[in-house]
Amino acid sequence: MPAAAMRDPLVDRYGRVHRDLRISVTDRCSLRCTYCMPEEGVPWLARPTMLSTEEVVRLAGVAVSMGIEEVRLTGGEPLLRRDLVDVVAGMAALDPAPEISMTTNGIGLDKNAPALLAAGMTRVNVSLDTLRRDVFIALAKRDRLDGTLAGIRAAADAGLVPVKINTVLMRGVNDDAADVVALLDFALEHGYELRFIEQMPLDAQHGWDRSQMLTGEEILAKLRTAHELTPQTPEERGSAPAELFMVDGGPATVGVIASVTMPFCGSCDRVRLTADGMIRNCLFATGETDLRTPMREGASDDELAALLRSSIAGKLPGHGINQPDFLQPPRPMSAIGG
Ligand code: SAM
Ligand code: SF4
Repeated sequence: MPAAAMRDPLVDRYGRVHRDLRISVTDRCSLRCTYCMPEEGVPWLARPTMLSTEEVVRLAGVAVSMGIEEVRLTGGEPLLRRDLVDVVAGMAALDPAPEISMTTNGIGLDKNAPALLAAGMTRVNVSLDTLRRDVFIALAKRDRLDGTLAGIRAAADAGLVPVKINTVLMRGVNDDAADVVALLDFALEHGYELRFIEQMPLDAQHGWDRSQMLTGEEILAKLRTAHELTPQTPEERGSAPAELFMVDGGPATVGVIASVTMPFCGSCDRVRLTADGMIRNCLFATGETDLRTPMREGASDDELAALLRSSIAGKLPGHGINQPDFLQPPRPMSAIGG
């Protein structure tokens, strides 16, 4: 593909330069993690509203021409999208090509990892909340722990590295200190980078309760029952959302993403595209900018770029979770893309 004419970067009113595009390629999922959606699922997006391979690659191309350097595919479960390898290949053919990664529950990755690597994906984050089958079933409502573990292994074997593991803890479900330490030991043993994410108010059932949320501090206390953790300096952290800790003197690290108790909105460089073609300038935005309708009505790339720019121009300074008037967005995490 010929080199795209570069446009001005995506800078918002607070000087934040946007370089990271998260694309939800589907809202469907093979699991039902309690912190994300109810066991019966949610009303899925209507198929005709979902972006085609060509549409999603085109919009990524517009974003890349505005300085987006990294594209993360997510969902829902991205591996449920049959054309995923084609989506990756299309993005890898953009010029300049963004770095392409994926956040996945890992189920099915054992079959796809080499093809995704060959298409141009460089690394994956796999979500794993427990190593215990009974707890996995209680939390994700599906007996698929083996599938997730096979996916993690396959990603590492294929070279989709570093493999990062995302863990969300729920009080009284998967927060037993010994089990949390076992997750870290598993990651250390295999060379995976483990990061704990504070549970956020993004579940479809609107059941999030601050008093039930495990804070980053509580998570660290559990890990410290078995390991010595030394924090990184702020300079080492940069704009990364995860605060990293050296484990037992390093070099291995463990991360905590304390989005609720220690928001990092001031250095946010992310923008999101939903599977039905809406731009969201924040996980918690209550408004969206429709790119699908104008695109299908014949908008030019310049017009789509202007819409993307207007969305970023309206980005708020922070997510506001800790303010009394906070309202959870109507769209759940599975349809936004985490
Ligand atoms: N299905 C894929 C997966 O689970 O990795 C990708 C989509 S999932 C929405 C992306 C990430 O968001 C996962 O790591 C998941 O654990 C996290 N997540 C989902 N709901 C969350 C919530 N309410 N709070 C914090 N993280 C959440
Ligand atoms: Fe599916 Fe990921 Fe949500 Fe779990 S967190 S239900 S795997 S989209």
